[in-house]
Amino acid sequence: MNKLLHIPPPPISAESEGLQALINYTQVLDHHVQQRARTCQSMLPALAFAPDALTDTGPKYPIRAFSYLDELERDNDETPADENQLLDEVARYFRGAIRPQSRHSLFNMVPEPSVAATAAAWLATAYNTNSLMDAFGGEALLIEQQVARRIGRWAGWTHAMGIACNGGKLTLMYAIKSALSRVAPDSLRTGLPPDIVILCSEGAHYCVEHAASLLGLGSDNCLRVPANSEGRMCTEALRRTLNEQHACGRRVAAIICCGGTTINFNCEDTHEVREISQAFAQEHHLKQRPYLHLDSVIGWLYLSLPAADKHQISCPRIRARIAEVHHRLRDTSGFDSLGVDFHKNGLCPYASSFFIARERRFMDELGDGNYHYTDKDFQYGQFRAYRYTFENSRPSQGILAAWINLRKLGRYGYAAYLNRLHEARDALTHALERHGLFRVLNHASLGWEVVFEIPFESDVVALASTRQELAMNFMQECWERVDAGYDLPLFSVVPEYRIDNDPNAVTTAFFLYPMRQRSHYEWDETVALIATQFHLFQSRLRIEQKTLGQMQFENPIR
Ligand SMILES: *Cc1c(COP(=O)(O)O)cnc(C)c1O
Repeated sequence: MNKLLHIPPPPISAESEGLQALINYTQVLDHHVQQRARTCQSMLPALAFAPDALTDTGPKYPIRAFSYLDELERDNDETPADENQLLDEVARYFRGAIRPQSRHSLFNMVPEPSVAATAAAWLATAYNTNSLMDAFGGEALLIEQQVARRIGRWAGWTHAMGIACNGGKLTLMYAIKSALSRVAPDSLRTGLPPDIVILCSEGAHYCVEHAASLLGLGSDNCLRVPANSEGRMCTEALRRTLNEQHACGRRVAAIICCGGTTINFNCEDTHEVREISQAFAQEHHLKQRPYLHLDSVIGWLYLSLPAADKHQISCPRIRARIAEVHHRLRDTSGFDSLGVDFHKNGLCPYASSFFIARERRFMDELGDGNYHYTDKDFQYGQFRAYRYTFENSRPSQGILAAWINLRKLGRYGYAAYLNRLHEARDALTHALERHGLFRVLNHASLGWEVVFEIPFESDVVALASTRQELAMNFMQECWERVDAGYDLPLFSVVPEYRIDNDPNAVTTAFFLYPMRQRSHYEWDETVALIATQFHLFQSRLRIEQKTLGQMQFENPIR
């Protein structure tokens, strides 16, 4: 790290003295948070199989299970807290939180954000800016549009504008709402008519139905189109669904397309989808084709590498994956909007998502139906974002974080990061294969996750009612060690994983999400720690010879 970062400049104003006090106090808080985590750890018995598991803080701040309702009953002390109590409250807040800084944090797409972006976002917190309109937030609102314009350019749009928001789910809500307004312009003032549906792919994120429900469309009016073995919507099924809906008198407002997902990187062929939707509109003499949104909150990163520069990726396997994604995304320019999650793979802290649209008509479509944006809105002092945003007062940390990383890394810096993520996937896959116990299942994925199977032995399988139950119990045991505070790999499980998207090849799989490259030695160590826990789990079951209890297990979210 740059040494200069560690030498604070001398105070130049009362403000920077205030900031220094804030930094100092943050360090006091942090010291206590870290100390508390270490104290909890020091009370744990050492693990014979992993003597180093107490050397560093693990992938989670230690936590014990509790009941929300009991805790709420107990909490009625309203006297002012003293300094030590306050420190404890801050430490308590972090209990059970994932630490993306840990080498064992492999649970999901949660990277450690860059120092530059985090510091900038933190300054926006310290100075308490609000981006509801430019008269309050100043140039933050311009930078927000610069981020949108830039990513929009990667997608082939020349006049893109957008909205910074709190996560990928909101990008979907903005897209669906824009689509509803477009198909039923009166609905802004009079409410939704009952004949509207939206379509998405079978492999789309689980929150699309909830977004539809929150918008008053209703989750039943979000229809999933079956996907094929490549994880994209079946073209025949898409045509059929469009025609069926039309035949029963419903209007299809939008097709929400996958642009990369957490597992298997489901990604539509944008060209096919656009052609099908246009042909559908022509055939039935519709005023417009369904609104096309690309849920690229993950896949946006692939757009950072210009298609013409693929030769710069030296590993042929990685180049082929990126080329395939580029092929499927070759027609983003014909789409209406897309989503970006800078907190997932943009090295930014939360909340730094962007809804980005090809045209700025979303500003009217997301309004209350009583205002129309014109050029005069885009003069400094006149620009009001709250007319089209869900939030009124609006945090702006994500705007600065995203912009700082875009400027610091540049487009090619993000492309290099994408390449490194794929290198990490390949290195981790090789470590699993070197070890020999596990079977990697997702060679066909275009993403950088690693999905693998754990071979429970038949006498152990006989102790459970299903293999899935066994796998879930094993997962639970690994998670309990991490919750207690052990520094062991934090990974996850996919209950009904379809190998190569084949509905007839379903298994309970496990997955690891590498968010940075590590040495071969470190990956070997990670794999060995998972293997040892597996062996221990099997031997314990054999010794106890008791059948596993039926577990309450909600599918882990992805
Ligand atoms: C993560 C994700 C979402 C939801 O995003 P949040 O940032 O969690 O709100 C939606 N779609 C896809 C494909 C995702 O990966």
